[in-house]
Amino acid sequence: MPVRLSKTVRLMAEPKENVLMEKIVSLCKRRGFIFQSSEIYGGINGFWDYGPLGAELKRNVKELWWNTMTRRRDDVVGLEATIIMSPEIWKASGHVDTFTDPMVDCKTCKGRFRADQTGEIPCPQKPSKMVSECHGEKTAPRAFNLMFQTYVGPVQDASAIAYLRPETAQAIFAQFKNVLETSRQKLPFGIAQVGKAFRNEVTPRNFTFRSREFEQMELEFFIKPDEVVEAISGRVATAAEVSGGNIQHPTSNIQHPMGAAPGPRPPTLDPRPDWGWEAWHKYWVEERIVFYEGIGLGRSTLEEYWQKPEELAHYARACVDILFKFPFGTQELEGIAARSDFDLSQHERCSGKSMGVFDEELRAAWSKLDDAKKEALSRRYTEARLKYLTKMGVDQAAAEQEAKEDAAGLAKGQYIPHVIEPSAGVDRLILALICNAYSEDQMPDEKGKLETRVVLKFHPRVAPVKVGVMPLLKNKPDLVAKARQLRDLLRPHMNVFYDDAGAIGRRYRRQDEAGTPFCVTVDFETLEGAKDGALAGQKDTVTLRHRDDGRQDRVKIAELLPLLLEKIR
Ligand code: ATP
Repeated sequence: MPVRLSKTVRLMAEPKENVLMEKIVSLCKRRGFIFQSSEIYGGINGFWDYGPLGAELKRNVKELWWNTMTRRRDDVVGLEATIIMSPEIWKASGHVDTFTDPMVDCKTCKGRFRADQTGEIPCPQKPSKMVSECHGEKTAPRAFNLMFQTYVGPVQDASAIAYLRPETAQAIFAQFKNVLETSRQKLPFGIAQVGKAFRNEVTPRNFTFRSREFEQMELEFFIKPDEVVEAISGRVATAAEVSGGNIQHPTSNIQHPMGAAPGPRPPTLDPRPDWGWEAWHKYWVEERIVFYEGIGLGRSTLEEYWQKPEELAHYARACVDILFKFPFGTQELEGIAARSDFDLSQHERCSGKSMGVFDEELRAAWSKLDDAKKEALSRRYTEARLKYLTKMGVDQAAAEQEAKEDAAGLAKGQYIPHVIEPSAGVDRLILALICNAYSEDQMPDEKGKLETRVVLKFHPRVAPVKVGVMPLLKNKPDLVAKARQLRDLLRPHMNVFYDDAGAIGRRYRRQDEAGTPFCVTVDFETLEGAKDGALAGQKDTVTLRHRDDGRQDRVKIAELLPLLLEKIR
């Protein structure tokens, strides 16, 4: 999104919240979730590596997003495009000219800061004061382009300049026609992509929240312009018809039993042919919130921020940010923007290739409209196109001519699709999941003495390790052999961690810190028969230990796999 405004609700972190953040950063390093990139050389600001547990967590999150957004839907397909693309793409999208942040220099400390964040960034020389409060002399703000520049090929001159993509979205627009023609999709439909993005942020901070290299999960959902919907369906449904009830609906997995599928889908969320951009926009806001709830970010941890008209990019009709209550403030996880037909129109104008679609339904419907309706719809379409063309600097007479020609296309079933864009950051979501999962409680140790334990209460769907498998004792070959058998039984279906080192209580604690929702222990009762309870006397049972409350159940090995699968899916 080329025009960047400081729009999210920013709360100053309380001191105790900073302490919490310090604990989280330290746990991430200690347990191998997140490391500073190039740490042995002193690190590189704004770049982070994911360790063994972090890599699994990230993989799970991306896979859940991909499955939810593409494989479980008929109307979304995927794309995997290159990071370096023709620089023309970034001229058309506006990134070359306007993807900037305002930056100020401090003449005293020589620091450079985002001008709109000086109230939140501590002064490097006097960390007790914010940059805005220190007396260092600042330059006037100037625009700083956030794209990383490189050269393609052996000659480093202006003609070889290229950029690392600052978002994944533009490749989707550039490949729109190829995907449309090869996937046999019809509007409305979407194209999804997950991948790296790069922004040379002036002040990367808040751990991974604002990084210079990060990953995005973006959907461009192409819809018919409202005039087309009205021509075909006779009316355009409003956002109010996509009831906000779904959000209040108890879809949270915090409210649902662990692992249960979200509740029944309210009928108001089933797409209808008469939906215009407002209804589709509302729909995607709801869908995305349901997604977050389904991976353990309960409704109470999120906020919706509807951008005010003056905050919107000129081409956007609406934009909702989904914010998460991080320990350092309530900040954006994802933005869901209604971007009109701006992106495809820009690529059509700049590449000279048509980005329009042919819609037989529109052609047939148009011929049946009365003249007054045709006239009203054409006028509205012309006005919207004229607004876009004049905004892009096309002179008035040419713009009027072109807008009229575009509107004349409606009768032939031709138009440029509009788009709704839910755009989420993988790294911010990972950080939110870790912050949300972090908890400290009191649990008895092996001697019954209460001790503080650190536990990551990840939803089983995202947990990096789903189950720890342990023989009670390492030096009993029968226990070890049985535990290894169990590990091999579960491994094809989920990420299993086999651990036979140390006292069982310590092993449980290690898995608690890693966020593993279940541990299975092979003990003497497994071999000799359960001592008591419903399974008394039966062999081949194990102890199933639950992370959150430490509860332990006796379970038949034969029933373990389906039981765990039900909880982690
Ligand atoms: P912000 O206002 O926080 O800079 P943005 O509005 O510029 O974010 P978008 O361009 O809408 O962000 O990008 C979509 C998503 O990509 C964001 O919601 C966020 O999750 C993620 N994202 C953007 N910039 C970064 C970054 N520097 N580090 C990590 N994630 C990012």
